[in-house]
Amino acid sequence: DCRLKLIESRVRAFPDFPKKGILFRDICPILKDPEALLAVTSLFEEYVKDKFQQVDLVVAGLDARGFLFGPLLAQRLGVGFVLVRKKGKLPGATVSVAYDLEYGKAEAEIQADAVSPGQKVILIDDLLATGGTLFAACALMRQLKAEVLGCLVAVELKDLNGADKLKPHSVYSLLQYE
Ligand code: IMP
Repeated sequence: DCRLKLIESRVRAFPDFPKKGILFRDICPILKDPEALLAVTSLFEEYVKDKFQQVDLVVAGLDARGFLFGPLLAQRLGVGFVLVRKKGKLPGATVSVAYDLEYGKAEAEIQADAVSPGQKVILIDDLLATGGTLFAACALMRQLKAEVLGCLVAVELKDLNGADKLKPHSVYSLLQYE
């Protein structure tokens, strides 16, 4: 698929960011190229429409890059979009969960009325590394009794085994790096 080649050409690698020893994959050039951004959105849309009969919501992983792809996909699917955020950012009643990052620790939070019991949700983020972030989002969905259909990411860092951590939920990634 030539869309994947285009997307791949719009991901840059930065060694030793944000810490020594980490090779940071930068997806900003995707956003700067409308055709590449359209390629990401359309591939996600085709996958979801092909694989799942009913989707109620798209829920994004943590601030901030999941928020970039999530609303675009939700609009195309004709469903709502919900944020998972770092603790302390959302007003009203919330539920939260602690989680590990590839580089650090944090707490994820969602508004308690954002997702209803039984709703079928797609989780989305820009990148899957250790899986800690999407695992936290899955835990929040469990707390709210939603059904996670699957996780979508633009980039998957394979050797960190994030997909294993998310089992039994499926992971669909557009680009894979070792
Ligand atoms: P995980 O929780 O270890 O899977 O890390 C994934 C989260 O950290 C995502 O929300 C990403 O935005 C961010 N992240 C981790 N590594 C990278 C990277 O190399 N490039 C861009 N984002 C990253």
